[in-house]
Amino acid sequence: MESKQAAPGAKTQRSAGGAWTFDVASQEFRLSQGACALLGLPAAGPFEEMLARMPVEAGERKHLRAAMRRCATDRVEFDLRLRLAAGGGGAMVRLMGGAVGEGRLAGAAFAADDEARLSGEVAERAAQFGSIMETALDGMVVIDDAGIMQSFSRAAERMFGLTAQEAVGQNVSVLMAEPDRTRHDGYIGHYLATGERRIIGIGRIVTGRRRDGSPFPLHLSIGETNVEGRRLFTGFMHDLTEERRSQSRTQQLQAELAHISRLSALGEMGSALAHELNQPLAAIGNYITGSRRLLADAGSPSAAKIEGALERAAEQVLRAGQIIRRLRDFVSRRAGERRQESVAKLVEEAAALGLVGAREKGVTLNFDLDPAYDALFADRIQIQQVLVNLLRNGLDAMDGAERRELKVSSRLVAPEVLEIAVTDTGAGIAPDAIARLFEPFFTTKPSGLGVGLSISRGIVEAHGGEMSAHNNPDGGATFRLTLPLRPKGAP
Ligand code: ADP
Repeated sequence: MESKQAAPGAKTQRSAGGAWTFDVASQEFRLSQGACALLGLPAAGPFEEMLARMPVEAGERKHLRAAMRRCATDRVEFDLRLRLAAGGGGAMVRLMGGAVGEGRLAGAAFAADDEARLSGEVAERAAQFGSIMETALDGMVVIDDAGIMQSFSRAAERMFGLTAQEAVGQNVSVLMAEPDRTRHDGYIGHYLATGERRIIGIGRIVTGRRRDGSPFPLHLSIGETNVEGRRLFTGFMHDLTEERRSQSRTQQLQAELAHISRLSALGEMGSALAHELNQPLAAIGNYITGSRRLLADAGSPSAAKIEGALERAAEQVLRAGQIIRRLRDFVSRRAGERRQESVAKLVEEAAALGLVGAREKGVTLNFDLDPAYDALFADRIQIQQVLVNLLRNGLDAMDGAERRELKVSSRLVAPEVLEIAVTDTGAGIAPDAIARLFEPFFTTKPSGLGVGLSISRGIVEAHGGEMSAHNNPDGGATFRLTLPLRPKGAP
């Protein structure tokens, strides 16, 4: 499309076309800017005058006048190809028109050479796009650079419980749960201003919001297109609550978490065992040493044999201690894959995972994350495991509670130290439990394992942070963990 790429104001520039309207009573013929440029006419004027100024052959004018008349009297649509005279560039122009209401005609004027290619392509793309929007299993939404929804697919209608008619024209943030709901305009603004991609082409798990306000996890990926100088963003949305056993991101995350959970449970059990067994092992060791001394004094004929046996027993005691120590080291050595992680992403993914099934329980979830401190230095999977644990505990604690609200917040509590807090409106922590919460195997639940919090604290401490629990003044509990923003010694 050379004509479109020519510099503005350049002599060679020719418009691709535009629209026109005609009022039968006043005979006024109006043209859009593009049509004016194409036809070399002013924006408005009496039809006959405009026709006379149109740079076409006399015969062509006659055709156009007749077509307009038939259209005005009998509502017959027309589609004419006119050759512009040399003054108009000698090109072909296509003029289409039809009646659009009482006494009004309207239509379009294109440069015919462009039009053939353009309209073909546009029609083909529109058809492809339409059928994709109709049939795609994933929800699709197209928004403009102000966040206003331009189209909304069938699957998206089902996912959110909104019709396309209701959705189109609204800001896309109505589909989101907090914090994205209030921040989304800022996200687009940030991207348009800086070009920094946080989600475009990357994709991540976010919390969607259905028409009834209930949150649900969804995987969102976004593509960007440029349509005639307009920036449009297409979101592909996959509802994770209906996730089948596929290679999805949630499954992957869940598997990672389960794996690490097993490993840490092993480590935790190892530590507990080591702790518990150290004393009996030490006692056995002492008895053996004592027995060997007694044996030496007794002067029995089998003394040498018994002595040998006791020595081997002592070796085995040492070996048992080493095995347990190694088991313990094995897990605590997993300093893991620590890197710079986005707090929002970490928390949102953990929430999406931890709150599967929470919708049915009528639980609302709020985020209050300080956007000024979005980066943490941490092992994402381990910290997500901690958060999932805290969220699940919060859900458990709110079973049967009247108010069911979970909140995840973050704030800077010391230079370079971020605190993440999970607050619930549940039963609160029993007074006699508060001192023992973080002990391995401490649980007040009939089928609880009692390892969640002790593992969580282990993970947080391995990151150089701390974990604590408090009851809220107005009911429920808050669990806090602190984490460093940057690796030790980093600038
Ligand atoms: P489990 O959940 O298997 O019992 P945890 O180590 O995660 O193991 O929790 C230990 C105990 O701490 C729970 O049994 C419960 O008594 C208490 N607890 C944990 N989270 C909360 C909470 N949000 N509100 C009240 N009590 C809690």
